[in-house]
Amino acid sequence: MRYISTRGGDAGEVKTFCSALLEGLARDGGLFVPDHYPIIGEKELAEWRFLDYPDLCLEIVARYANDIEHNELKTLIDRTYTTQAFGSSEITSTRSLGAELFLLRVANGPTLAFKDIAMQLLGNLFEFVLVREDRVLNILGATSGDTGSSAEYAMRGKHRVKVFMLSPYRRMSPFQQAQMYSLAEANIFNLAIEGTFDSCQDIVKTIGNDHLFKTQYHLGAVNSINWARVLAQAVYYFKGYFAATAGNGDEIDVAVPTGNFGNILAAYIAKRMGLPLRRLILATNENDVLDEFFRTGRYRPRSVQETRATSSPSMDISKASNFERFIFDCADRDHNKVRQLWQTLAQYGGFDLTEPEYQEVWNRVAQSGFVSGSSTHADRLATIRKVYAQYGEIVDPHTADGIKVGLEYKEEGVPLICVETALPAKFAQTIKEALDIMPPRPSAYEHLESLPQHFDVLPADAEEVKLFMKRHL
Ligand SMILES: *Cc1c(COP(=O)(O)O)cnc(C)c1O
Repeated sequence: MRYISTRGGDAGEVKTFCSALLEGLARDGGLFVPDHYPIIGEKELAEWRFLDYPDLCLEIVARYANDIEHNELKTLIDRTYTTQAFGSSEITSTRSLGAELFLLRVANGPTLAFKDIAMQLLGNLFEFVLVREDRVLNILGATSGDTGSSAEYAMRGKHRVKVFMLSPYRRMSPFQQAQMYSLAEANIFNLAIEGTFDSCQDIVKTIGNDHLFKTQYHLGAVNSINWARVLAQAVYYFKGYFAATAGNGDEIDVAVPTGNFGNILAAYIAKRMGLPLRRLILATNENDVLDEFFRTGRYRPRSVQETRATSSPSMDISKASNFERFIFDCADRDHNKVRQLWQTLAQYGGFDLTEPEYQEVWNRVAQSGFVSGSSTHADRLATIRKVYAQYGEIVDPHTADGIKVGLEYKEEGVPLICVETALPAKFAQTIKEALDIMPPRPSAYEHLESLPQHFDVLPADAEEVKLFMKRHL
């Protein structure tokens, strides 16, 4: 399996899984994608139905990571997906809420959000490759809350790795903030940026495009543009599919609350590999740039000023980094078209696929299975109340966004899986507002907010961030 850039790369920049893993962004500013998607036949799918999580993960990841020896990969995966880290040997589970309605629970890792599924594996993959290649890695990332803590919990204390995590100062929930900033490991640096998540992400991109700095200081990324993360998330769509169906012919729909387009891209990859997912139901909050795209064909990322702080803050994103991977496929993997679109984006602040020259791209979008919707704060409250009243289940506000939009598209005869992306304990204020009760909190997290916090406040300026890093490398 080889990895190519969505923008064509420098004279055919071709990478292995491990080098794409460490580099994150391609040199030309594009994203790494596998040169093809392995197709899983009916026979394999039937066998996979009975695998436990680590073995299922091994089957999937091995097809994309053939530069890691099979037994080695198995050891890394077995070490990652443990009862200790994920609360049960199932790792992810599926709860049936009613006829044809399922909640896919993927948020039982150390930071109580789905991102742990991929990040915990990434931590072990990084350490393994760095030791093998006698290298060090300095991870520069941006987070709107959950990615950061997930990355830090995956990398804390790991050899050969340092983490510099940019987060929007005072824009995360108190729980999220405490979770990240309370880590005291010497290899973890929390940088609180005076701006939004997008300012953080822009800084990461700016520094990532400074090739000299990037090489000199061994920079890498763990944000959701990292291919290995998307891949690791594809696993639970297979597992959820098996739980929600009796046989492998049945189609199901999935509803995914979306920010950076990572989690739902994983569902799309699973579909491309042959998993019978019918509709990929994309849910946004008030920051509805992706909903607008799927409805109109116009992709118009918002400015920092236009990005609203909502009660599903991990989706407060105005442009979706992973989106380029999807568009690359819809452009029939034509680098020139992708480059042209992203040039238009840079120049005019958006692009429109309904224009005649992009008609074929838009047709492929329409055939991809994606549908979309958005929700408001009032919708989240109403959904949290409804799910609690009907099923006795407390869902977090992001999960509620997905359920709200998912139910709008629910069709009789087709099971619907809604992904639970975080536990409600992380967003207690909104739960209190909706239900007037506090969500249960795992006992290990009881005194989280009273722990000492470690962070540095910096302006939204890439040069300042570089200076900070130089001082601490
Ligand atoms: C990150 C996150 C999302 C959005 O996921 P993407 O992969 O960025 O689309 C949704 N809900 C929660 C709780 C998250 O942490």
